[in-house]
Amino acid sequence: MNTPMFKIGHGYDVHRLVGGRKLILCGVTIPYDKGLLGHSDADVATHALMDAMLGAAGLGDIGLHFPDTDPAFKDISSICLLKHVKKLVANAGYELSNADITIIAQAPKLRPHIAEMQATLAGVLGVDVSLINIKATTEEGLGFTGRGLGIATEAVCLLNKIS
Ligand code: MG
Repeated sequence: MNTPMFKIGHGYDVHRLVGGRKLILCGVTIPYDKGLLGHSDADVATHALMDAMLGAAGLGDIGLHFPDTDPAFKDISSICLLKHVKKLVANAGYELSNADITIIAQAPKLRPHIAEMQATLAGVLGVDVSLINIKATTEEGLGFTGRGLGIATEAVCLLNKIS
């Protein structure tokens, strides 16, 4: 069987912004008057990254591994789930080469938190921080992110075969 040296993956996720929840992105709690609604901590950025990694490894998606009907995952830290995804990917013979994550949010301003988010993900994944790039953008007031109804994230990653 052909075992590729590299495998690429893409992830996309959206969560709704509501009152009374913490806003957690890439494992970092961001000061804001709303947070993301979800079964877990609803860390939309970490979810997109996990889906990119699972997709690259040919292992499905996070819904398959961490069903939102399972009480075990209620309010769980997505960083814990990411640690598990790293193990699944390693068991498949791959490790993260690099990842690029784009968070789409009208507010709050994320730039002051990007370095901490990159360091958090790099620490969990055991890679140099230069291999985790996080960008934040708005959609100029358009659509559901522009109206502040939710936050979306797209992520791409490359995995390389463990030698
Ligand atoms: Mg999600």
